[in-house]
Order: sequence, then C-alpha cells, then structure tokens
Amino acid sequence: MNRSEPLARMSLRVEQDIFAVRQLGREVARAVGLESQDQTRVATALSEVCRVLLAVGADTDVTFRVESYGVPALQVTMAHSAAGGSSRLAEQLQLVGRLVDTMEVDDGGIGTTVRMARRLPSGAPVLTSTKMDEIRAALAQHVPGTPLDELAVQNQQLIAALDEVRAQRDDLARLNAELEETNRGVMALYHQLSDELEETNRGVVALYAELDEKSVQLRAASEAKSRFLANVSHELRAPVTAIIGLGRLMTDSSSDELTADQQRQVDLIRTSASDLLSLVNGLLDLAKAEAGRLEPTWSEVDLKAMFGQLRGTLRPLATRPEVEFVVDEPTVPTLRSDEVLLAQVLRNLLTNALKFTESGSVRLSVRPIGADVEFVVADTGTGIPSELHERIFEEFYQVPGSMSVSGRGTGLGLPYARRLAGILGGGLRVASTPGTGSTFTLQLPAADESATDKTSEPAS
Ligand code: ADP
Repeated sequence: MNRSEPLARMSLRVEQDIFAVRQLGREVARAVGLESQDQTRVATALSEVCRVLLAVGADTDVTFRVESYGVPALQVTMAHSAAGGSSRLAEQLQLVGRLVDTMEVDDGGIGTTVRMARRLPSGAPVLTSTKMDEIRAALAQHVPGTPLDELAVQNQQLIAALDEVRAQRDDLARLNAELEETNRGVMALYHQLSDELEETNRGVVALYAELDEKSVQLRAASEAKSRFLANVSHELRAPVTAIIGLGRLMTDSSSDELTADQQRQVDLIRTSASDLLSLVNGLLDLAKAEAGRLEPTWSEVDLKAMFGQLRGTLRPLATRPEVEFVVDEPTVPTLRSDEVLLAQVLRNLLTNALKFTESGSVRLSVRPIGADVEFVVADTGTGIPSELHERIFEEFYQVPGSMSVSGRGTGLGLPYARRLAGILGGGLRVASTPGTGSTFTLQLPAADESATDKTSEPAS
C-alpha cells in the first residue's frame, strides 16, 4: 500500500466515540514511535478537539497519517461537515494546541478541518512502506475498550505524570541546593580574592613608601657626595697649585742650580702635581654639573669663530706628523647655545681623539640633522670595543690597556662631557670599532627658528 495512505481513520458521532478516538490516537502514536509522554499528549489533544467538535453537532472524520517532509511527524486531520466558526474554534483550541507541535483550523468549502501534528523523535524506527503496512494491519485489529478501561488508563497516566512532576520537583530542589552551594563557594572565593587583593595592595603601598624613602635617601647621598667632592677638590686645589708653583720656582733659572738627580725629582713632583690638579679640576667640574649648579648662558654662538679657536688651541697637541688634524668649515653658521660649555665638550672630545690616535686623522665637523645640529669628532685611532661604549661614560672608567700618547688621563672627561651635553639640551654618543677608529657625536637642538629664518632669507 502507498506510504501516504492513512494509517487509520475513524468517525466521531456520539460522545462514546471520544474514548475510542482517544484510544486509537494513543495506539497510533505508540506504533509510529512517539514516546510515552507524547502518546498521552496526542491522546489528550485529540479527545479535547473531539469534545469541542462534538459540541458543534456534526459528524467528524478523524484520519491518522505520517507526514515525512523534513522531520517525520504524526499528523491527525479532523474533518467536520459544518462550515464557518473556524476562528472561534481556533480560539477554543488555543490551549490544547500547546500539547502538539502544530494545530491549524481551516475553513474549507465543505466544512471545517482541524489539523495537528507531533514530530517523531530522532530515535523512532524508520517507517518503511512495509513497516507502515504492518502498523496499518495492527491498528485494524485494534478493538476499542470501554470508557471504564479508558478511565483506568487515564488514571495510570495521571499517576505517572504526578510521579514525574514529583521527580522533577526533587530534581529542581537538588539543583537549587547545588546552586546555593556553588554560590556559597563563589562568594567564599570572591572574599578570599578580595582579601588577597587588599593584602597585595597594602604590600604595594608599603613598597612604594619604601621606594620613595630610598630615593630620598639616594638623592641626599648623591648630594652629599657632590658636596664632598666639591669641597675636597676646592680644598686640594690651593695646596696643589702651590706645589706646582714651588716646583716651577725651584727649576727657575734664577734659583740655585740643582743636581741632575734633584732636577729629576722636582720634575716628577711637578708632573704628579699637574696630574693631581687636572684630577681635582675634573672632579670639581663634575661635582658642579651634578649638583645642577651649572647654569648655561644662552647666546647666539658663532661657530666659525669657535672652530677657528679650537683649531688654533689644539693644533699644538697634534704633534705627530702621521696624524692629520682637520677642523672643517662649519656648514651651520650659528647656534643658540652656551659658548663656553660647548667649546669645553668639543675640546674634550678632540683632546681624546688626538690622545688615542697614532696615525691617520682627527676631524671635527658640524651638520644639520632635522631639527638638530650634530657635531662630529671622528678619529682613526685605537677604537673602543662595543661592550665598553657605555662604560667609558662612567666616572673614572678607562679602557684597559688603552694607550694614550700623553700620559694617564683621569677618566672624568667623557662623563663630564655627557653631563654638559645634557645641560645644553642634547646628548653625546659614540660609534667605534677597535683598530679602525671612533666617532663621537654631540647632538644639540638647532638654533631657534627666528635665527634660522633670518639666515635663510634671500638678500634684498
Ligand atoms: P681620560 O681620557 O681622561 O682617560 P675620558 O673619560 O675622557 O677619560 O675617557 C675615558 C676612556 O675612554 C679613555 O681612558 C679611553 O680609554 C677611552 N676613550 C675616550 N676617547 C677615546 C678615543 N677617541 N679613542 C679611543 N678611546 C677613547
């Protein structure tokens, strides 16, 4: 037989038939694989619809089919011969409609049709044509029970439903208890976390307080160091200068002739005293710069003049014929800066370059770079290993084994030069390769705009 043929059909005429339709509905629902609860739902919905339709008065044909478009569903069609009143019917069946998946009321030309459907569960057996034929055959055998039988079945279903409700209520109570427990756990965790956070915060606050205290102490210590250095250097300067002066007097031509030995000893005293004096002077300079007591005097510095002066004063130091000492003509004519401090930094860098270069060249140049001006002191001397490029800016640090042409230095020149560069609003950096040479670059902010504008204006 065709798959779309009805599984069963029945007519509803008298009240007694309601029980029969209900029973048949449950049987069909069971046969097509609906679960027990769904069987009751379908049966209840059916008996409700039948009750309403019977009250209208006309005969009703009830047909059961399995609809297999998309998800397979059991479909029950109740065709009623009286037309009209479908909207009232739909309203009456609204609540019942919730028992099934779809419930439609249709006003056809020859009467009213109520259609309802309930989807089969995914685990339901596959309804092949053979299976459908079997179901049809079994349903044809179905003998409707008495209303009393139906009452007994309904009672059983009610008890089962009550049991289920109780079980669900127990489940709900258990879930509630679990939820409360979880909530308590979450709250406990929250309290613990906020306690820990508070504790951590207290720790951080204490740490900050300690840090503040330490930095105050550090600043005080640094100031004390600078003061001490300044005082000691100052106090040492006078006696050392006196020693140098006395030494000079002793070797003066107007003094008594010294023996060769004495002459050597006095020379030694004089060089040592000179070394000491340059150390004391270096310390004093550095202490002043560190204490922030060096206030730059800003003015428009004539770089051409300054370069000329540096050329003149440093040429005597370039004693080696193998070393070419070059001071380029400045491409930047003027710069707003402190003339004395700027000259000090450049002199310091050039002196070093001359000290550590045995052959090749030492060159000073200046170039504009963006909003800055860069002074470059480049030499072809011994060079500095890259890992020491920062260390040479530390106080008293000297590259081990670095050979200076003119005796030992103090290790204070570069730290001081970097301080001065900072005071002038710029920075000092080095690029160097051992055996090739070093390039020290002093970067300073360019002259203020008005000055630049004036120089770049075409002459009228
Ligand atoms: P000083 O020159 O008095 O020793 P500085 O602070 O000026 O002190 O320099 C620190 C050290 O950096 C020097 O002792 C030297 O080892 C290294 N140095 C500085 N300038 C150069 C240079 N142009 N070439 C090679 N080494 C240099």
